[in-house]
Amino acid sequence: MKLWQDKIRKVVPYVPGEQPKIKDIVKLNTNECPYPPSPMVEKAIKEFDTKELRKYPSIEFTELKAALSAYYKVGSEQLFLGNGSDEVLAICFQTFFNSDKPVLFPDVTYSFYDVWCDLYNIPYKRVPLDESFNIIPSDYYGENGGIVIANPNAPTSVYMPLSSIEDILEHNKDVIVIIDEAYIDFGGESAVSLLDKYDNLCVVQTYSKSRALAGMRVGYAMSNKDLVFALEAVKNSFNSYPLDSIAQAAATAAALDTAYFDECRNKIINTRQRLIAELDKLGFTTLPSFANFIFTTYKNRNAKPLFEYLRSKGVIVRYFNKPRIDAYLRITVGTDSETDRLLAEIKNFIG
Ligand code: PMP
Repeated sequence: MKLWQDKIRKVVPYVPGEQPKIKDIVKLNTNECPYPPSPMVEKAIKEFDTKELRKYPSIEFTELKAALSAYYKVGSEQLFLGNGSDEVLAICFQTFFNSDKPVLFPDVTYSFYDVWCDLYNIPYKRVPLDESFNIIPSDYYGENGGIVIANPNAPTSVYMPLSSIEDILEHNKDVIVIIDEAYIDFGGESAVSLLDKYDNLCVVQTYSKSRALAGMRVGYAMSNKDLVFALEAVKNSFNSYPLDSIAQAAATAAALDTAYFDECRNKIINTRQRLIAELDKLGFTTLPSFANFIFTTYKNRNAKPLFEYLRSKGVIVRYFNKPRIDAYLRITVGTDSETDRLLAEIKNFIG
């Protein structure tokens, strides 16, 4: 035993879904977009002047912020950018959650939230979802050190209407409420429209799902300028340049191509509805999804055997060996042909 060993910080990290290098797999385990990014992204990268890489990237994000401001109708001073929404969320936790009282989030939700709380020594409390995996706003009325809610929630895909979010905001004016909208573009309504009314609201979104740029690592928060100022100060205390120059060019191009964005997400929504209907015929129960993935169970039986069978056939989905959700599979909505292959293998399994 080395003497320095007990001085080393030990943490239990978040474990993302695997990125297997197997050929011909149908990869439906990490909620990536099955379609490529906008052709405008390809053009922006091809036309990128590599001589620019000599210099540090812009920290003003002028073009990118202009494109996002126009789309979301918020001021550029209301935007905070980061290296994927995971980084943006981590900085939000560090900046906003500094209380002795626990931060609240659902018992079934994105499993990074408790990891960040542990990393930053933030006390937290998991609030149970109801039997149908819905968030009950009144459960969030009590004293707390802040709130974080994924809407739609993950891994359940269940969406909470804006009226319920507003209810939570009304009862929590003294703490910061973060709404993680990683999956909002697949049918939900963004809480961005509430920013003018609530100065304690912070909405976080990502390029990784609906804009098909998970590999580029771009995420952003939208809030009021005071909270963005606080986020900038924390971020600038450890990394001034979270977004490289190519990522900024690509993200700007993607934000400007709203027609491609709408086409892509509508295709995913249509495939999702077909997938749910087909699974329904096979005897599955699927939660109402507003995301680019579904959460489905076959007769409430433990889902591990089906998960392993699908994996052996090259169809990778996500199974969580956790209380309340071990009878479910989380399946990303793929292309139509990927969906056909998934359904064919599920049929083989259940006979
Ligand atoms: N929030 C939720 C609810 C997610 O599922 C994910 C994806 N794992 C993220 C945030 C982070 O996504 P990214 O860092 O790729 O923006």
